[in-house]
Amino acid sequence: MAKYGGGCLCGAVRYRTDAAPINERVCHCRLCQKALGAAFNARVLFRIDEVTIDGPVATVNSSPDLKRGFCPGCGTTLFSRRDSTG
Ligand SMILES: [Zn+2]
Ligand SMILES: [Zn+2]
Repeated sequence: MAKYGGGCLCGAVRYRTDAAPINERVCHCRLCQKALGAAFNARVLFRIDEVTIDGPVATVNSSPDLKRGFCPGCGTTLFSRRDSTG
């Protein structure tokens, strides 16, 4: 069983990793608040090549170098990735 895993509301998108997170953060920036519809974004950071993602993922740029991934079926916010640092 993967160390970290989860998915979206409808189950179409699943993600998992056995890697240890690079760091853990709580972000209170305005973009995270709006993107998640919550007061803050509690997240863990992994190397992209250590995470397995199954299912369709749609992305939207919330700023020029930051993409936020979500399920196109149910709209669940899943993750974000920075284009600049890979
Ligand atoms: Zn979904
Ligand atoms: Zn933020």
